Amino acid sequence: MSHFKKLRQQMIDDQLVARGLQDQTVLDALNSVPREAFTPTDLIESAYRDSPLPIEENQTISQPYIVALMTAALELKADDRVLEVGTGSGYAAAVLGEICEHVYTIERYKTLADTAQARLNETGYTNVQVKHGDGTLGWVDQAPFDAIIVAAGGPEVPQTLKEQLAIGGRMVIPVGSSLSLQKLVRVRRLSENEYETEDLGSVRFVPLVGAAGWKE
Ligand code: SAM
Repeated sequence: MSHFKKLRQQMIDDQLVARGLQDQTVLDALNSVPREAFTPTDLIESAYRDSPLPIEENQTISQPYIVALMTAALELKADDRVLEVGTGSGYAAAVLGEICEHVYTIERYKTLADTAQARLNETGYTNVQVKHGDGTLGWVDQAPFDAIIVAAGGPEVPQTLKEQLAIGGRMVIPVGSSLSLQKLVRVRRLSENEYETEDLGSVRFVPLVGAAGWKE
């Protein structure tokens, strides 16, 4: 078994399965995506560490466990249309692309969006489309989405994103009044005007900056 494949298998066992994550689709997806291909080259040996890692523009690639937890909370099916806000390195988008045919992801830093798109193409995730822009406004042309994952913490759940959820759709997003500590919530659209919100626990994310997020 190759070096990174071995580290990846250890990550699955020690960080995900050991913490009780049982969703086989999600475990298989994280076991398929080469996280080292989305990690800055100087940190490649730390790619499977049990923590977030710094990337360009002072942003982060999320901890594998958090990516797995949020992905599992989306309850994805292969034909779901998925929107990610906060592409960052492109790693979580690749995990989503392993599970679903149609993945759309938005990043506010052009440098990150371009690098992520190049990495996704190189690793074969041609079913993931990256857009540079403010993800709090969603992606009108591609809505509605069966699942929306927001990888940065905002003061509240953006109304525009709620409106771009399909009925029956799920959104997982960190929210809270602090810039660095949030609670992870799952919002489920029950009907045209009804939404159900569940608390999934405390998390730490970089700020969601945009029209329906924090101001710059
Ligand atoms: N999912 C990423 C990965 O796998 O590497 C990690 C994302 S990082 C924790 C959060 C990202 O959200 C950052 O790259 C940040 O620039 C981006 N971001 C923050 N506010 C945003 C917004 N309004 N629209 C799009 N991206 C945003």
